[in-house]
Amino acid sequence: MTNAAATAGKPSPEHKVNPGEALREELRQERRALSRDVILTALTAIGLAGGVTLDLLHVAGPSAFYLYILAYLAGGLGASYRALRSLFVEHTLDIDLLMVLAAVAAALVGEVRDGAILLFLFQLAETLEAYAMGNTKRAVVALMNLKPEEATVLVGEKMVDTPIDEVPVGALILVRPGERVPLDGELISGDTTVDQSPITGESVPVDKAPGDTLFAGTVNGFGAVRMKVSKDASHSTLARMIELVTEAQAQRSPSQRFSDWFGQRYTVLVLVGSAAALGLFLLFGMPHSDAFYKAATLLVVASPCAIVISVPAAVLSALARAARFGVLFKGGGALEEFGAARTMGFDKTGTLTEGQMKVTDVVPFGVSEPELLALTAAIESASEHPIAAAIVVAAQAEQEAPIALSASSTTAVPGHGVRATVDGRDYWAGNRALAAEEGVAIDAEVTAVLERLERLGRTSILVGSDRLLGVVALADTLRPSAAGALRSLRAAGVEKFMMLTGDHANVAAAVGEQLGLDPTEVHAGLLPEEKVELIVAERQRGPVTFVGDGVNDAAALVSASVGVAMGVAGSDAALEAADVALLADDLGKLTQAYQLARHTNTVIRQNLFFALGVMLVMVLITLFGHLPLPLGVLGHEGGTILVVLNGLRLLNYNPPELREATGAPDSALRAPTVRSSERLG
Ligand code: ADP
Ligand code: MG
Repeated sequence: MTNAAATAGKPSPEHKVNPGEALREELRQERRALSRDVILTALTAIGLAGGVTLDLLHVAGPSAFYLYILAYLAGGLGASYRALRSLFVEHTLDIDLLMVLAAVAAALVGEVRDGAILLFLFQLAETLEAYAMGNTKRAVVALMNLKPEEATVLVGEKMVDTPIDEVPVGALILVRPGERVPLDGELISGDTTVDQSPITGESVPVDKAPGDTLFAGTVNGFGAVRMKVSKDASHSTLARMIELVTEAQAQRSPSQRFSDWFGQRYTVLVLVGSAAALGLFLLFGMPHSDAFYKAATLLVVASPCAIVISVPAAVLSALARAARFGVLFKGGGALEEFGAARTMGFDKTGTLTEGQMKVTDVVPFGVSEPELLALTAAIESASEHPIAAAIVVAAQAEQEAPIALSASSTTAVPGHGVRATVDGRDYWAGNRALAAEEGVAIDAEVTAVLERLERLGRTSILVGSDRLLGVVALADTLRPSAAGALRSLRAAGVEKFMMLTGDHANVAAAVGEQLGLDPTEVHAGLLPEEKVELIVAERQRGPVTFVGDGVNDAAALVSASVGVAMGVAGSDAALEAADVALLADDLGKLTQAYQLARHTNTVIRQNLFFALGVMLVMVLITLFGHLPLPLGVLGHEGGTILVVLNGLRLLNYNPPELREATGAPDSALRAPTVRSSERLG
């Protein structure tokens, strides 16, 4: 599970650190390191260029040698420092060590120029790499720039512009048309539409009325509204997003850990292998200088720089990219595993359906319709289930002369229904299993009623005491996007869906058919623990994703290889429970996230394949032919840079589903990697 690791580094709430600030500071430090690298690279270049010029002009004397020494010092100092620190402080072998040894070996056999070229190219590549990898962080910082600096706080009649860090929870603020919402809060007065794409990635503006939640970073439309601040600046949804992406980027995914592990073992192998090769060359009578030169070339071309960087370059870019369309992966592990999973489980209610139930039929047996509805509402009054809420609403709305009843004690029977005492009598409301538990028989006539309703996709609730009093049926609407989303997911690589529900098989089958699911993909009548068992059993066959709303599916989310929670904007609990959090309540985001994850895995494979291929070819040429050291270095560093750039392309990747949703590759949704860096500092 990636959850524990993701939350472990969370700053304590009383410690009011702005999560973005830490990242900004980190970037500032990296920028300083980068300037240092640039200067060193320039010095190396000067030394090298000077030395080569004097050589070409056949200038006698030691001047050229001194210039090469300058190149060695400027180009090799950083690498030597890193190599020695790894060796003596962390007791690990660093790739830098291979480069330094190769440069020293070149110098020993009198090829200072080749050694200087090596160090220059190595230093240049390191600098470019550091800059390029910084883009993955700068893309996250770009999220922070969505937040205005100030809010217009209303103090009585006065409007006071206040820095957002100083606005207390409960303050009343004014948001003008076209302004960015500065903080999370509740709309108090006025109506408007809000472009929530910076947070949720949804392209369609959302209507907002009093009582609705507004998120920091979103853009107010036409209306001037007043809102009440519900979270301080460091705890807004936007701040949590930045915090989570930052944490996710800091984690190491399994394949990253593998490439680290591999890098370590492999570095040793390269050292030993080059030494062994040197021994063999000498044994077969190769001149000493040739043997050393070849061994030095081997050290360089066989070193695993590209392999080690290939995974992080892709993963960090993808994590930053996903955040920009409203999808938070809790780490590279979640991203890779999500992309690898071919089985995807769904909760039916609230995930594939809208979860807004409505009472459609009231079928009483021996009582009046209003009586049955009022009684059922009383039984359900204390339940938190969507079914209960719908019945209470219907009873309040549809009754001409309200019958006031209240339940004195209620017990929930999870996955089955509720029991309650109303006016001193015991009643129950729930499914067939609950009726059976109560010892109430269901005759053929009632069964016919139930089946008719269920085939229409309506959930039917039986209501009774010691005898059956009636049936209340409810309908939930499928999300309009559900069938399409499942189709795109299948096209993107999902091989097997599992719709999990506690609802009756007839209802589930009707819903499954509308969604285009195979009957074997529909699992009905499940208790919450049976959902977990099914997921666990399925995991024997490979990674399984489970998609739910994150609030009442927490157990299933945790038992899946990758738990995906939908519509988590504003819900901290759901945000915590998931490995993948979709800020928007939109199945299209699920498809986009899956497409991105699969594409990331493709890029990782491309990178590893390419890096290994280039290395293998160069090693073979060195061993069995002749490869000049500078050419080997060029191939090696060039390969590394290509792998990094290929990974970084993910920063601007637009999943096919996103292109469809927004019409065209949307430049506004692209990571403004360069622009944001200008605003730093
Ligand atoms: P789901 O998988 O759709 O979330 P639940 O596990 O919540 O389903 O519930 C399963 C079934 O149990 C429902 O379809 C319904 O028949 C019954 N049930 C659960 N809670 C209630 C309730 N409060 N009132 C009546 N019936 C209920
Ligand atoms: Mg449920």
